[in-house]
Amino acid sequence: MMVDWLSAGLDPDKSTMFIQSEIQEHVELHLMLSMMVPVPWLERNPTYKEKQDEIKNVDMSSYGFLGYPILQTADIVLYKADYVPVGIDQAPHLEISREIVRRFHKLYKNKIFTEPGAKISEIPKLNGLDGRKMSKSYNNAIFLSDTEKEITKKVASMLTDPARARRDDPGDPDVCNLYPFHKIYSPQSMQDEIDSECRTAKIGCGDCKKMLTQSMLEGMRPMMEKRTEILARPDYVKDVFREGTLKAQVVAKSTLDQAKQAMKLT
Ligand code: SF4
Repeated sequence: MMVDWLSAGLDPDKSTMFIQSEIQEHVELHLMLSMMVPVPWLERNPTYKEKQDEIKNVDMSSYGFLGYPILQTADIVLYKADYVPVGIDQAPHLEISREIVRRFHKLYKNKIFTEPGAKISEIPKLNGLDGRKMSKSYNNAIFLSDTEKEITKKVASMLTDPARARRDDPGDPDVCNLYPFHKIYSPQSMQDEIDSECRTAKIGCGDCKKMLTQSMLEGMRPMMEKRTEILARPDYVKDVFREGTLKAQVVAKSTLDQAKQAMKLT
């Protein structure tokens, strides 16, 4: 994952990258916060309900799964983040985080945390290949580490507008699962051309997928090249996360100490 980030251009001097499980303060703050969060707040979380309905082959009836938003809150508030970059479907999780922060401040009369806001990009949601939420668990994701061959194969299998059962059926890019990817990777002129030719059935989904594959590969090629360079320097990657982990740990410890003082746990 860290190679993904470095290849995408994150600069370790500006962005602290670290291994969360190396920092025990996350677990400790999670436990402390879990003592004050009402269970119904967690049960009404839409992702909890959705996953319970969708994932049938794993027992999801554990506290770990139910309490995941509390762990996520600890992960965020330990660093007093103003914003969290999320997709639109993660926004309800952040709402719970804000509620937890407000409850903590009210109960312990000490405003030590920051209520995190959502930083949502111009394309707030990209679905997976099959139209469901893009997720490793659903096996429907395009990864930053995918090769040209894998990307080509995955784009070719993508669900499009179901109304286009035949080549001459007109489609609607606004409901198409694939079109948002053009918004990220293709030039505006190509987006406009597809928008008009899809609606009049001048273009088929097969052609549209080929155009997307070209745009995606062009957009991702610099990242693929950088990835090759970074993978040749494994010690550099280890140094980045070692230094980042030490840096993050200092902040996490300071915030946890403040939380303990507020809760009179010192
Ligand atoms: S032509 Fe493109 S935008 Fe239109 S439905 Fe097919 S894949 Fe989607």
